[in-house]
Amino acid sequence: MPGILEDKDRIFTNLYGFQDPYLEGARQRGAWNATADILSCGRDWIITNMKNSGLRGRGGAGFNTGLKWSFMPKTVTEGRPHYLVVNADESEPGTCKDREIMRHDPHLFIEGCLIASFAMQAHACYIYIRGEYVFEREVMERAVAEAYAANLIGEDNDFGYPFHLYIHHGGGAYICGEETALLESLEGKKGQPRLKPPFPAGAGLYGCPTTVNNVESIAVVGTILRRGADWFSSFGRPNNTGTKLMCVSGHVNQPCNVEEAMSIPLKQLLEDHCGGVRGGWSNLKAVIPGGSSVPMIPIDQCETALMDFDSLRDLKSGLGTAAVIVMDRSTDLIRAISRISYFYKHESCGQCTPCREGTGWMWRVMERMANGTAEMREIDMLLEVTTQVEGHTICALGDAAAWPIQGLFRHFRPEVEARISSYRTGKPHVQGAALLAAE
Ligand code: SF4
Repeated sequence: MPGILEDKDRIFTNLYGFQDPYLEGARQRGAWNATADILSCGRDWIITNMKNSGLRGRGGAGFNTGLKWSFMPKTVTEGRPHYLVVNADESEPGTCKDREIMRHDPHLFIEGCLIASFAMQAHACYIYIRGEYVFEREVMERAVAEAYAANLIGEDNDFGYPFHLYIHHGGGAYICGEETALLESLEGKKGQPRLKPPFPAGAGLYGCPTTVNNVESIAVVGTILRRGADWFSSFGRPNNTGTKLMCVSGHVNQPCNVEEAMSIPLKQLLEDHCGGVRGGWSNLKAVIPGGSSVPMIPIDQCETALMDFDSLRDLKSGLGTAAVIVMDRSTDLIRAISRISYFYKHESCGQCTPCREGTGWMWRVMERMANGTAEMREIDMLLEVTTQVEGHTICALGDAAAWPIQGLFRHFRPEVEARISSYRTGKPHVQGAALLAAE
């Protein structure tokens, strides 16, 4: 088997949906096995083991999951129940991993919801599913009904811990993937991020202590506790441990979702699992390694980059959701980033001025850069605006809009300058497939 992770160490053994996704098939794959034993070990044991496993949130931020759970109040106050909310809003362009978990391994996910809720003394869990994920919602609803019928969850379930699970279908707004916007939306309001603090662990859903976790972070919990924190942390590098679902799209021969060990070299990921870059490695131009919001890295950095938080941070990019977007030399990178800028402009909730005005402004300038009609001096002006948006907004959408542009100019500024120059001199700029043909 190519890659680093062996089949025996895969958590998502039905990732491709070849087996029965529902209860019978899930039990055969190990879900709901020893769940009672795990719960009998107690809350502190579960949280300590999750911390020791080194699992960092799989939704993009990369915060230690066990540590996040430990921020919940130790005792439940009268009238302030605890909640677990699972973020299944998966809207980051390039990302399609939680979708596969919900489609093909919903019981592993539901079991994780029960264990995580127990650890945080939550008796209710809400799963907020992206509006476009109709099929995934239907699969989840059927699996939840099965779990109720089998007495695995519910008021008087076999584990003796009253627990209810609710599926909530969102309306399809990207911003509802931001945890506090998600909570607002769940409460029936307009999905706009809240100012923090207070953080959700203090005042979250309905003003009560809440933890919001990503689907993948929750779905791996049962297996980690069954096989042990040491087993999970044996993959990857220190501070970047475990296995991870990676979604590879774009100019590779076989785009795929694959579970791999953290810290696998990016080049190995593309060559072993995706059949390599279209036209060969030398045809690679750049890769966006973690979903559309992280800066791209050029081919020379792709040679050595590892798929983990620290390696990609050192390259001024990020692991994000591990959604790898591969772009070969036929790609018009300026046009691609302009399109991403349009996405963030469109998805801005409009609450804060730098984001509401800045995303539109950046997109309009990027469009002119892509056409070649911008002024040369506008390059520095655009970069200056990205720094005025980045870090000056309520939520991270402002950063997400600024970073792809910064990544483009960090590595491909001469390409933009050449585009502007050729427009001014009346010479058509040569790009993409035409460039390859000319060589
Ligand atoms: Fe809304 Fe953008 Fe401000 Fe986030 S950064 S709260 S999306 S306006």
